[in-house]
Parts: sequence; C-alpha cells; structure tokens
Amino acid sequence: MCTDCQLSHQRNTAVPGEGSETADVMFVGEAPGSNEDKLGRPFVGAAGNFLDELLRSANLDRADIYITNTVKCRPPNNRDPLPEERSYCRKYLDRQIDLVKPKVVVSLGRHSLTSFLPGETIGKSRGQARSMGPFTLFPMYHPAAALHQPNLKQVIIEDFEKLSLLLNDLSSSPQDNMSGAPYQKDTAGEQLSMF
Ligand code: URA
Repeated sequence: MCTDCQLSHQRNTAVPGEGSETADVMFVGEAPGSNEDKLGRPFVGAAGNFLDELLRSANLDRADIYITNTVKCRPPNNRDPLPEERSYCRKYLDRQIDLVKPKVVVSLGRHSLTSFLPGETIGKSRGQARSMGPFTLFPMYHPAAALHQPNLKQVIIEDFEKLSLLLNDLSSSPQDNMSGAPYQKDTAGEQLSMF
C-alpha cells in the first residue's frame, strides 16, 4: 500500500477509483471524503448522489464510466489536497489514463482542472472541451459546489448536457480522439471550437 505522502498516515482505506476499464469517459474528482475513506469507493456521499443524478440524465451509469480522484487518500478534515500530495499521487492517475484510454476526461472542480491545466480557472474553463492529445478534457464545476451554491446547480446541469453531446459526437465520428500521441500532462490544451 502506498506510503509516498503524509495522506497515508490517517487514511482508513485508499480510494483508487472504479468503473469500466474500457470507459470512454473518466471523471476525475479532487479527493476522497469521509464516506469514501470508509468504503474505499469514490463519490459515495452527497456529491456522489448528485453525480449519479447527472449520469442518469445523460443515460450513463457507473458501470459505463471510470471515476477517480487527483489523490487517492482522504486529506484530514476534508481539506484541499496539497500540490505536493497531488504530485506524489499523479503517477496513479497517469497510469489509469494510460490503461483505460478514455476519449474524454471530465475534471470535477478546480484542483482537478489545474492538475491538467495549471493556472486555469474553473469559471473560464468550465463547459469547454480541450484537446489534450490522446483525450479531450472537459472541465466542470465539482458536483459538491451545487450543494453549497445552489445557483451553480443549473450551470452544472447545462455543462452535463454539453458533455452528453460531446460524447455522442465522439462516438459517432469515424475518427475518434485516440491519436496515440503521448499525453503531455503539463501542456495547455487546445480549445475545441464545438462549444
Ligand atoms: N468524493 C470523491 O470521491 N471525490 C471528491 O472530489 C468528492 C467526493
């Protein structure tokens, strides 16, 4: 079991991620919370319930997708994951992306977004597809944001509708996004024109 960073000291269980190993879409949240830390599964609390609702609206369920987080162990008191914790854990996320080969990676929240696009802000990037080489990045607000700021709920619902269109578009286009080019994790993505 990984002991590379201080998050390993207080975790009950690591939360590596779960879902289809051949998923077209991978959701990357920020960090496990207390429910996740008990059960070893991502997004099983209130934010997860909203995520499940969003998935249903797009005719997806958890068996069709892959869900993980930027860090695999719960930060104490649900604090934000620190940059060095994210960077220690990055090798696992990169490996998950290499193995699953999603066409679309949905970053949930600003810590997830800046793991892919350092310096970007969620307010500007959300709902806009970016080519990152082997996959398309689709940044969204974190579902928990809607629980704290009800006005964001509609924004998230609308972004999920865009995501659904993007997925339909990618699955119906003869040439998908799998260029085979290595994924450069610190390269700013090129914004796609579709939205
Ligand atoms: N649960 C998770 O697994 N990740 C989050 O970012 C929030 C809740």
